[in-house]
Amino acid sequence: SPTLVWFRDDLRIADNPALTAAAERGAPIVALFILDEESAGMRPLGAASRWWLHHSVESLRARLAERGVPLVLRRGAAGVVVRAIVRESGASAVFWNRRYASAERAIDSELKSGLRSDGLEVQSFAASLLFEPWTVQTGAGTHYSVFTPFWRACQALPAPRLPLPEPQLLHPGSAGVQRIVASDTLADWNLLPTAPDWAAGLRETWTPGEPAAHDRLREFVATDLPLYDQARDEPSAGATSLLSPRLRWGEISPFSAWHAATGAGGSARFLSELGWREFAWHTLFFFPNLATANLRAEFDNFPWPQPDAQALRAWREGNTGFGIVDAGMRELWHTGHMHNRVRMITASFLVKNLLIDWRIGEQWFWDTLVDADAASNPFNWQWVAGSGADAAPYFRIFNPELQAKKFDPHGLYVQQWAADASPLKIVDLGLTRKAALGAYDVVKRSGRP
Ligand code: FAD
Repeated sequence: SPTLVWFRDDLRIADNPALTAAAERGAPIVALFILDEESAGMRPLGAASRWWLHHSVESLRARLAERGVPLVLRRGAAGVVVRAIVRESGASAVFWNRRYASAERAIDSELKSGLRSDGLEVQSFAASLLFEPWTVQTGAGTHYSVFTPFWRACQALPAPRLPLPEPQLLHPGSAGVQRIVASDTLADWNLLPTAPDWAAGLRETWTPGEPAAHDRLREFVATDLPLYDQARDEPSAGATSLLSPRLRWGEISPFSAWHAATGAGGSARFLSELGWREFAWHTLFFFPNLATANLRAEFDNFPWPQPDAQALRAWREGNTGFGIVDAGMRELWHTGHMHNRVRMITASFLVKNLLIDWRIGEQWFWDTLVDADAASNPFNWQWVAGSGADAAPYFRIFNPELQAKKFDPHGLYVQQWAADASPLKIVDLGLTRKAALGAYDVVKRSGRP
């Protein structure tokens, strides 16, 4: 009887341990993807994420179909849907790759024990992180809160395994299964924007799906990796991998990225960026409320004023009068992506010059980034805000004009995205800096350093 492979944040065929194990089991495979907007605690996807998901699932579905495997699409609470598909398909085994956010873990562990007690074989695999969170521990048996020792500890573990090749999926029984199990169509899910259709910039910028992810990795390693260390901080250099949405959706695995980079002579810097991704996910694993609660509790005393709606709007729309901030926010709106250095500058501007709570900025990025993920986004916002793990000290306040001079010295990036923006500055950098430091004093005085 069939093996059910439940796809989640792993929309790929190569280096997919759950799929490979299903192929080795030798029975027909039914693949499943669930749009779960019902289970308790699931964070609703942002609009840019929904756009990416639509196209990535479309690509996966076509590629699995070419290999004789039906991808069934269903909407609903995952626990209910998986049980229904097991019944409808007669599957006797259910395989998936692990997830690390808390609501998802609760769903998975409840299902695993429930299905096992019904006599099914259930297996979960490590696929989305290079190191499982519970394997990286301090000498005292706790998790790390500082990156450098965390990454050193990771590197002392056995090296990340080699990526698995594409499994052989063709099975004579697959067609029969395909007929039994009904599927939604992608159109039923309304993931794409209609009126207005704001996704033209996303379509121009990206090709979601596994083949394009591998093409980009190959191209990056061949042409950009040698320049990465020197040029990664310049937003106009185009020297970074642009792999983040592909890793977010699992079109490519971190193992593939790791080995492609090390095989090409590597860049310790690039590998350590993959390490920051691990660190963010491990932090979420041990601190599930990362998107809503300050990691450093003393920041609960931060006296956020009532957010200035006009300033917030100017920030979102890229109308602050600070070229690099406006360029970043416009790049984000147009492409669903923003260069890392500029993410830091725009986030710092919101939190420290506009004194707007990091959670409001995090939510905007969540909605507009194609790579928004449950760990990296809140983790990095908290890093900028000073409330996070191994965070930038609060009092180190970026000056967007000096940052622009340093990282966009010829103004190419600002030219590209904000040439027509107004130079009318919405705040005074000196005064707002003072106000931010004054607010931070309350945190310091609260007596919990
Ligand atoms: P590269 O420089 O090529 O890096 C390679 C990979 O390493 C990235 O694809 C990413 O997976 C990982 N990586 C690099 N830097 C970080 C980092 N600081 N934290 C975690 N992973 C990292 N990244 C996301 O993937 N999703 C997010 O939602 C996200 N939100 C962010 C919010 C803020 C405020 C900031 C400052 C950063 C955020 N980042 C996020 C991290 C980083 O900006 C992006 O990963 C990076 O810009 C993606 O571009 P790239 O793939 O070309 O990066």
